[in-house]
Amino acid sequence: MGSWRITRIRVLNAIGDSPKMIGCNARLPNHGAQTRDPIVRLETDVGIEGIGRLRGGMDAADRELPQLIGRDVFEFYDPEVGVVGTTAAEFAMWDVVAKSQGKPVYALLGDAGSNDVDAYDGGLYFCDLLYPDRPLERVCEEAAESVARGFRAIKMKVGRGHKWMEAEEGFRRDVECVAAVRETIGPNVKLMVDANNGYDVSGAMRLFREIGQCDIYWAEEMFPETVEDYRVFRDFLRENGWNTLIADGETQGEVTPLLPLMEAGLLDALQLDINRVGLTEWKRLAGLCKQYRCCGAPHTWSSQFGLFISLHLGRAFDNFLAHEVPAYNVDAILPAGIEWYGGQYHFTGAPGWGVVVNERVYNEKYRGEEKVYGGTS
Ligand SMILES: [Mg+2]
Repeated sequence: MGSWRITRIRVLNAIGDSPKMIGCNARLPNHGAQTRDPIVRLETDVGIEGIGRLRGGMDAADRELPQLIGRDVFEFYDPEVGVVGTTAAEFAMWDVVAKSQGKPVYALLGDAGSNDVDAYDGGLYFCDLLYPDRPLERVCEEAAESVARGFRAIKMKVGRGHKWMEAEEGFRRDVECVAAVRETIGPNVKLMVDANNGYDVSGAMRLFREIGQCDIYWAEEMFPETVEDYRVFRDFLRENGWNTLIADGETQGEVTPLLPLMEAGLLDALQLDINRVGLTEWKRLAGLCKQYRCCGAPHTWSSQFGLFISLHLGRAFDNFLAHEVPAYNVDAILPAGIEWYGGQYHFTGAPGWGVVVNERVYNEKYRGEEKVYGGTS
């Protein structure tokens, strides 16, 4: 392989739209029906472009991307480690390196996972608070919509009493909503709960006394993570005969604070955010998880490109659980090489991410608005 020189890099602040309003979770206010998923387009002198989500925000883009112009993309790839030497363009670099080999990104990582990659709907927020005249009905409607769209796993938010409702009233609403969703989706769809740390350990145990029989697949961020509290919670789950997994880590920027939990065997699903820590780091974490009999389930919330990256991990390694599907669809990209059916994603074998720029949307909405580094290609 000769050199592939980087000629120009563009960053567009792509829009993600949700078909429904996304309400609050235990900590944050309404998330709205729109988000942003900034996309890097990295062009080379052989006419092949890498695309990927921007990592580190526009500060990282302005700092790093001008320095990449004229450099060889292969300087930024170590087959043992992954993409090195860039944060902002990491994902676009993975794409172009994989394309240079005519392979999907997952093929650079491994081939141990199934081509049928599990995914779950992560969009069931506190929609009851958006529809106060028919709160439970609305929660059930959204759960039924997820099943109708083919999902075999749904995650719902709990922790209404943390700040949005009076504590006892919020607790009761959580219990009612979980029971109603389980009844709506039936016994064959996985159900997870996510409290965004809105409970403490005794509150979480009290909640599970009420919802434990609803067959909860995983409990995510029920309370701020400590070895002591998770040991109590894990013992409590097992004493009651529930196999509920413990998932945590999305608020951490690195794995170090979670290692004590992993070493103690108290973390079943590691959830560091894919956009925040990157794929090169997640490649390393996949091995680390194996060592501690933990699985990966990267946080991708609000980022559709993050989901696509996460799916490549699931295809490459055999220790990833379901991947989080955000409510927002990004208009400027198309997952041409990733198909959705039967409640799972499937790769066609297309090179790179299997994601292409929607040039029509790009020309209509983003051309002229994007940030450009370097000259013409
Ligand atoms: Mg979460």
